[in-house]
Amino acid sequence: MTNEARNNLILSMNDPSNILYSDEFVVIVADQYPKSEHHYLVMPKEDLFDVRSLKERHIPKLIYMELKGLEYVMRTTGLFAQDLLVGYHAFTSMNRLHLHVLSKDFCGPHMRQPHQWNSFNTEFFIPTHKIISELQSIGHAVLPPNKKILHQPVQCNKCDFFTNEIKHLKLHLKMVHYVPQIF
Ligand SMILES: [Zn+2]
Ligand SMILES: [Zn+2]
Repeated sequence: MTNEARNNLILSMNDPSNILYSDEFVVIVADQYPKSEHHYLVMPKEDLFDVRSLKERHIPKLIYMELKGLEYVMRTTGLFAQDLLVGYHAFTSMNRLHLHVLSKDFCGPHMRQPHQWNSFNTEFFIPTHKIISELQSIGHAVLPPNKKILHQPVQCNKCDFFTNEIKHLKLHLKMVHYVPQIF
């Protein structure tokens, strides 16, 4: 990844045309590569690279980011908290910590590859409460040992079905679980 691409999030959070919500502490933008029908990013204004940068003193900020993300997305989409997936990727090549807030349909136009599905549906995706309890107990977030889980077969998030092909999973979600595939 080029240095320029690495800083895309910082560019987007500083471009007023992208900003959906902003206050003293956080900025909310739409994810440029949506994996679900609704997909947003909450970023702190503080210069934190990723989850590895987090210390115990950041706990109030993590709570605030989650609260503002849920509040914004629930208000603009009409969805409830239980319809939304909220958390962080264990590893990212992008500069700036970002909290993903997305609907659980995973039928966004950019949900195309098994690793993309796995990045939201395995331990690669880390909820805020897990990070907070680890910051409290050992002072840093615990990450999976490597990125192997991204390349395992994709497992349905509603049953035991698994496959190596995202298009088979999408078909399964539509036929078996009636998840509309709008993209
Ligand atoms: Zn991410
Ligand atoms: Zn299933």
